[in-house]
Amino acid sequence: MVNKELNIVHLYPDLLNLYGDKGNIACMEHRLKWRGIGANILACTNKDNSMNLEKADIIFVGGGSDREQEIVCELLLKKKDELINYVENGGVLVAVCGGYQLLGKYYQTANSKIEGLGILDIYTDAGDTRLIGNVVLESELFEQKITGFENHAGRTYIGNHTPLGKVLYGHGNTGESGYEGVVYKNIIATYLHGPLLPKNPMLCDHILGCAMRRKYEDFNGFAALDDTLENTANKYIEDRFLKK
Ligand code: GLN
Repeated sequence: MVNKELNIVHLYPDLLNLYGDKGNIACMEHRLKWRGIGANILACTNKDNSMNLEKADIIFVGGGSDREQEIVCELLLKKKDELINYVENGGVLVAVCGGYQLLGKYYQTANSKIEGLGILDIYTDAGDTRLIGNVVLESELFEQKITGFENHAGRTYIGNHTPLGKVLYGHGNTGESGYEGVVYKNIIATYLHGPLLPKNPMLCDHILGCAMRRKYEDFNGFAALDDTLENTANKYIEDRFLKK
């Protein structure tokens, strides 16, 4: 039997790594390894943007400041067609905060209009205040709540796209819409930063499962892991903010 493995491409960890978004890569890597599945972590950086995305099974892009986002946007526009092709062919893409905004048509800040990749039919306008704090979501994908932390000035208008979840606590996409993130094909785009996947092991396995199914016809699900600690942390946040 050939050993299974996934190639996880981290886009610009040198520019977009707010609140340790990188921890999400470690989480994916470990949850694969604990099941005897290999994980190759590859980075596309500001210094070396030459990587071709053909081999990617999962692409991850984190968040950052408006200034860093502007640099990343220029780099990413060179890969626009490649990325659109990847997504339309079911490639798995996880985008957090600034990375999420870049998938849309544009991000309008107070000073400039940053052109996005237009992979999603969404756009973002920066507001006068930042939307900061803990978040609890109800998602159609899982029984368990998705918990996380947000900090963004951008208000993202998702049009007819499907949100990742309904906001039970926190601000979400605009602070007013009542929804957070976008799910499109195998894209998970969200404002939730930092240890999103460690706090939400079911979301991590969902992402890994999408990539495994796309790559291996004979993939028939993951062995269960002992997620007692992770689930306790997740539940603690849910109970704390929903005040049960
Ligand atoms: N610069 C963007 C905003 O403020 C994204 C910030 C982030 O990635 N946390 O909306």
